[in-house]
Amino acid sequence: MEETEMPEQILKIDKLNKYYGQHQVLYDISFEIQKGEVVALLGPSGSGKSTLIRCLNGLEQFQSGFLFFGGKQITPQEKNWPQLRQKIGMVFQSYDLFPNLSVLDNILLGPLKVQKRQRAEATAEALKLLQRVGLEKYAEVYPRQLSGGQKQRVAIVRALALHPELMLFDEVTASLDPEMVRGILEIIRELSERDNMTMIIVTHEMNFAAQIADRILFLEEGRILEQTPGKEFFQHAKTQRAREFLESMT
Ligand code: ADP
Ligand code: MG
Repeated sequence: MEETEMPEQILKIDKLNKYYGQHQVLYDISFEIQKGEVVALLGPSGSGKSTLIRCLNGLEQFQSGFLFFGGKQITPQEKNWPQLRQKIGMVFQSYDLFPNLSVLDNILLGPLKVQKRQRAEATAEALKLLQRVGLEKYAEVYPRQLSGGQKQRVAIVRALALHPELMLFDEVTASLDPEMVRGILEIIRELSERDNMTMIIVTHEMNFAAQIADRILFLEEGRILEQTPGKEFFQHAKTQRAREFLESMT
């Protein structure tokens, strides 16, 4: 890509506020993400990271503020989330695969049912994606036959099969055995480096965040305390609070 090329904005959030009942959990959250950027969302437990991620793909409603996806405004009352969500892949800590469907059928559900694609074409692509994550032999097995790391790979493939423009990862390695973590992080890294995928990542793996994130959003008690380029954040974060957080993570 030419250095001079105009950056393409994928997502913009402006003064987003979110309440659960009377309890405000997100305060005036504003940030943008350009195509190909990797943003890591860091902060203590309960700071609102998952809630923010869930607001970005319509799993949670927000009460005020603006959300723009691909230049189009999405209001808090947006009805078209099922269509929009196809462009926003999400992978959680718990894999949420359908236990009664094979690996392949889990992956094909979205492309066939939601996107109405041809089975042959979608299957060929799904198999290619499975091969990419080292699971080409597992297309016909059921989720219960897989390890946690393998299930998480399937969950990633399932999201990629919809051709998302943005991927959201919420602590995807948090429930994995340590020896499984590395493989998943490698897949995410490759998505950034090889595919230039735009991503927002919530993670406790600070080394990984330091290596991959173009920018860090540090959240505490529902507020963005700082937005700092990745390298700079880990060398000298702007806020005392973020420095304390980093110390507690090592
Ligand atoms: P994080 O992902 O950073 O740990 P969360 O987004 O899960 O933080 O939580 C932010 C705040 O919102 C916490 O105070 C949490 O207790 C509260 N919260 C999260 N989910 C719900 C919910 N479904 N109903 C009510 N409160 C919630
Ligand atoms: Mg969370």
